Amino acid sequence: MNIHEFQAKELLRKYGIPVPFGKMIANASDAGEITHNEFAAKGITTVVLKSQIHAGGRGKGVVSDVHTNLPMEVDGKQVRGVTVIREGNIADKAYHIAKATQGNKLVTIQTGAEGKIVRRMLVEEGLNIAREFYLSILLDRQVSKNVIMVSTEGGMEIEEVAEHHPEKIVRVHIEPKMGFRSFQARELGTALGLTGEALKNFIDFAIKLVKAYDELDCSMLEVNPLVLTADNRIVALDAKVNFDDNALYRHPEYKELRDLDEEEALEIEASKYDLNYIKLDGNVGCMVNGAGLAMATMDVIQLAGGKPANFLDVGGTATADRIANAFRIMLSDKSVKAVFINIFGGIVRCDRVANGIIQASKQVDLTVPCIIRLDGTNAIEAREILEKSGLKFSVGSTLQEAAAKVKATVDAL
Ligand code: GDP
Ligand code: MN
Repeated sequence: MNIHEFQAKELLRKYGIPVPFGKMIANASDAGEITHNEFAAKGITTVVLKSQIHAGGRGKGVVSDVHTNLPMEVDGKQVRGVTVIREGNIADKAYHIAKATQGNKLVTIQTGAEGKIVRRMLVEEGLNIAREFYLSILLDRQVSKNVIMVSTEGGMEIEEVAEHHPEKIVRVHIEPKMGFRSFQARELGTALGLTGEALKNFIDFAIKLVKAYDELDCSMLEVNPLVLTADNRIVALDAKVNFDDNALYRHPEYKELRDLDEEEALEIEASKYDLNYIKLDGNVGCMVNGAGLAMATMDVIQLAGGKPANFLDVGGTATADRIANAFRIMLSDKSVKAVFINIFGGIVRCDRVANGIIQASKQVDLTVPCIIRLDGTNAIEAREILEKSGLKFSVGSTLQEAAAKVKATVDAL
């Protein structure tokens, strides 16, 4: 589960981790108001306006009009996802930039061409930055330990650093039985070239951050950039938090942090029926029982020359109703041009699946070719049900046969 930067920073603040002073706003006039009153009262003369969307790369991202697609401009300058305002009437500028951003779309390298609508912004104090670093904590699956990574190349995409300057990424693994140790924090800070007061602050920062990562059940916590200010403070300028979905049951309070506007509408719909559905960007919809078979089926589609439009695991105990909902959700994705249903009936009976498919195809208009492979318990009955239905399905009894049909269908698209 993803949350917004402002929410992540609020959580970090509770752990005593330094983050810039700031406020979330859902209304452009508040940007001017807060800058004019609260910030001025605190002697803040630089303000940073940050669009809140569940995607990175905002600093370089461009805001454009949601209707016309034209880039938004303020004072002859293109509006970006993150703006530092330090000259002139900063409250007035903050207001105008917020107004140009509000309700419009932000396109970054992570959002895809369609971009994301900006509904909220974070108004923050601007800091006097001496250096920018990268820091993240995540699970290293290869060694089954959490790893903390730092780099002197702050503000840049870490994938890019990993590709061009892998030597600039320093990693320290956290031993589960020992926990994160201060000598490890010192090693990381030293690798970043920190000394004295700055190093001391970094050690304190890193230890608190690991504690937050653990207690909040994160699967990733990224601070990019982590900055050293001119007065030797270490501050999280950006924060990206991913919660481990398997631990969500331990945190009922996270429900409030969820922003449905940021999630795929179809994925939200699927979660209502406990369906494991993830939208992908291909054209062949697939419906499978069991995650392993779903992965194999996606490979089969790929081998046949198609691209899966989704991952959909209906689970081992699918009822006709569940199948019907899954089918409907999969088909409501407009990019689906063909469907491949691959069910191996073990606990789930194929005849039930067949009935679910028929029930669903009465509710939705099945206008795309549909290839079905049902094998296992009651497969023969299932095939009879499908044949008698009079609906147009193409049925394969083995995976090879079905794959060949998928290939023929994809080739004809
Ligand atoms: P992202 O591009 O979505 O990751 O957004 P970030 O929060 O990382 O902001 C992008 C960039 O804006 C940072 O790398 C900084 O260079 C700059 N930036 C953000 N906040 C401040 C600030 O308070 N002062 C200054 N000078 N620059 C900032
Ligand atoms: Mn960032």
